[in-house]
Amino acid sequence: MLPDKFYLWPKSKTLYFMLINLTSDTVTKPTKRMLAAMMAAEVGDDVFGADPTINQLEAKASKMFGKEAAVFCPSGTMTNQIAIKVHTQPLDEVICHEYSHIYQYESAGYALTSSVSMNLLQGEHGKITAESIEAAIKPVYDWLPISKLVVLENTTNKGGGNYYTSKEILPIAKLCKAKGLGLHLDGARLFNALVETGETPQQIGQLFDSISICLSKGLGAPVGSLLIGNQEFIRQARRFRKVLGGGMRQAGFLAAAGIYALDNHIDRLKKDHKNARKIGKVLAKMKVVENIRPIKTNILIFDVKKPYTADTFLAKLAKKGIQAVAFGPQTIRFTLHLDVSKEMVSQVVKILQQV
Ligand SMILES: *Cc1c(COP(=O)(O)O)cnc(C)c1O
Repeated sequence: MLPDKFYLWPKSKTLYFMLINLTSDTVTKPTKRMLAAMMAAEVGDDVFGADPTINQLEAKASKMFGKEAAVFCPSGTMTNQIAIKVHTQPLDEVICHEYSHIYQYESAGYALTSSVSMNLLQGEHGKITAESIEAAIKPVYDWLPISKLVVLENTTNKGGGNYYTSKEILPIAKLCKAKGLGLHLDGARLFNALVETGETPQQIGQLFDSISICLSKGLGAPVGSLLIGNQEFIRQARRFRKVLGGGMRQAGFLAAAGIYALDNHIDRLKKDHKNARKIGKVLAKMKVVENIRPIKTNILIFDVKKPYTADTFLAKLAKKGIQAVAFGPQTIRFTLHLDVSKEMVSQVVKILQQV
């Protein structure tokens, strides 16, 4: 087996092939220190509420966001699906951007778990506004679904890592309150937004009824997401977590990674953003690249020109050791993260300059 980052060619100290995985910020592996924290975790049966490390993580996260409670789940898909379920009744509708993860990448789970429909809005790079939401709220007639929940994504994934400031969210929160709609945040990459805006989790917590954050994205934990809200909301969420098979037993080993990540891996996200901008500068000079989306955080989305397609361009990069994903026939996404070192970024720059 080859180590996943470096491969020294036999008998050579200088020639090496570096594998650089820009596929997603989910590909990170626990650091030595994170692993040590995991190994030292005290655990118990969480279905009985008896895992002290999970209890500690949930208390830490709810306090961070100024909320009453939180529940630890295996994935961000599960926290989002549970949130939709608790906020809605069958035949309601959810208002969100057409690029939303809950619509695009959760296998239409909203239809299965909640029997709701989606009212999809357009907006710049994954963001929606109070005006567009207000115009989309349906009047109450027997023949219309009932608008019940608004979901924002921060940062936006398919929107290229774009983010909202709390000033932009405030009118949306006010509108939802006035119209009696729930407001959920898909904050899989919320901390990428917060290190850019300088805002606190509490400022965000005040604006939403429920918040999902991923520990397994930029924060570098191997597994885990948190759903955060008030007592009654989380009490119901726990029931649906069990129904969906997310009631884990001695999962405190995973929660310990989450605690470690929240304590140690937030500030460093800025480095990923800097690395993204550095690579973006090189892409901007390439004749075969166009339409680079504004680089706001750790995600780079751009198009390649014909005769290249996303697939042929990616195949070319793969030969040089860079892995990334297609986001459309001509569209590519690079994602920066904890396991992309400075040396790797230099290597990416070098390889792109040779294309
Ligand atoms: C990754 C992601 C999720 C959750 O994904 P899981 O792989 O299920 O943890 C949710 N929302 C967004 C925007 C994401 O990028």
